[in-house]
Amino acid sequence: MSDPRIDLMRSKIRDVPDFPKPGILFKDITPLLAHPQAFDACLGMLAERVYDLEANVVLGMESRGFIFGAALAARLRLPFVPARKPGKLPADVVRVEYALEYGTDTLEMHKDALPVGAQVIVVDDLIATGGTAKAAASLVEKAGGDVAGFAFVIELGQLEGAHTLAPHPVHSLLRF
Ligand code: AMP
Repeated sequence: MSDPRIDLMRSKIRDVPDFPKPGILFKDITPLLAHPQAFDACLGMLAERVYDLEANVVLGMESRGFIFGAALAARLRLPFVPARKPGKLPADVVRVEYALEYGTDTLEMHKDALPVGAQVIVVDDLIATGGTAKAAASLVEKAGGDVAGFAFVIELGQLEGAHTLAPHPVHSLLRF
């Protein structure tokens, strides 16, 4: 029997065809954010799924990873660390450049963001190829932490991005 919270969340993801470019079916999470019961269900389920990882830090990727990551961190009473696009963080950073379908992208994190012995949950709204999540994991390792696991609201199943994150545990709530 499916969890009614899953059905509610699924009903609050809007498909937007051809955004940001032709051929992409964009999964818009703004209806979920605008529905308090669905957003609360989402945070509750993420918290349940990651509880066993015994992590002590939550990292979220700019921009939508901030929304879910920061709210999840507050719910778990854990520190939140942002991984940002280049040039945004004011103090010394570690940096990872990673390949996109066309070109490259960069993520940065403050060098001193992680406490000694950090076990980090990496959070984003969606995993497609897994490239962004992998880059965030490299940042964690560069800053001296360990990845405890990954949590996503949405997994685009046919792209099998989760396999690229092995052997770390990957939790996602909705598969499309
Ligand atoms: P990837 O690095 O391929 O796993 O892509 C994941 C990142 O791109 C996440 O930060 C997502 O927010 C964004 N993304 C990729 N594909 C989509 C999509 N179809 N709809 C919404 N966001 C997407």
